[in-house]
Amino acid sequence: MTGAHGEAGTASSPLPLSTRALALEFGRTRRLLASGEWHLSSTDAEAVAAVLARLTAPLPARRGAAERTRATDGDRRLQRILRTTVHHLDAGAVSPTAAALLAAVARALLPWHAAPNPPVAAAAPRYGPVPGAAEGAAPPTEAGEALLPELTSLFSALLATRAPGTAPLTPPVESWQARYTGRFRHYTRPASGVWAADTVACPECGGKDGPWTVTCDWRRVTLGCPCGTVYHRHGLSFSEMWLVLPES
Ligand SMILES: [Zn+2]
Repeated sequence: MTGAHGEAGTASSPLPLSTRALALEFGRTRRLLASGEWHLSSTDAEAVAAVLARLTAPLPARRGAAERTRATDGDRRLQRILRTTVHHLDAGAVSPTAAALLAAVARALLPWHAAPNPPVAAAAPRYGPVPGAAEGAAPPTEAGEALLPELTSLFSALLATRAPGTAPLTPPVESWQARYTGRFRHYTRPASGVWAADTVACPECGGKDGPWTVTCDWRRVTLGCPCGTVYHRHGLSFSEMWLVLPES
């Protein structure tokens, strides 16, 4: 464990980033772009443009700002990128291909889920600390910012495929399966500023702890319970499922 509690804002935090999925998606997307196999649909373009706007948002100009203030500005930008990414991942409008990319971005930026601004309500979504990191550890601002140039370049290139007169072309995405031992939490917002959370339970045996067999094609998520029940009416959004799975 690499505890850095109380050192929020330090530039050399040892917190790791989960970038394996992102590296795979970078490679896949670059190949699809090079071969002309992915021309964004209008809904994908909307999501890509929204994330790109967050990626390229300038930091506030602060004359003589302390290092710590600058780091907090950087963290705030990374948090906005994460929140916009998760919003579009979960909104259900993007193609599975775009969802896979957004999911990989969200996983890499997960340390900013609660930093610098924690979720406003106690029952708001929480994903726990990044594996190997102490809860409350400072997010690795520099490592996160180091991802921005390549993300910006990739999202710009994707958006450029949406040229006038170009028909949308969305390549297929492979489904995947994972095992997960533990609980899935589903969050709802019954009223503005009010959050509620439920633990997913098997409709047959009531089991909540798995081990679950998770199957996902980025259209929907299917959960397999040890009792043999397989179901998809669990209400989980992609982020509620994906962001709690350990990196494979
Ligand atoms: Zn069951």
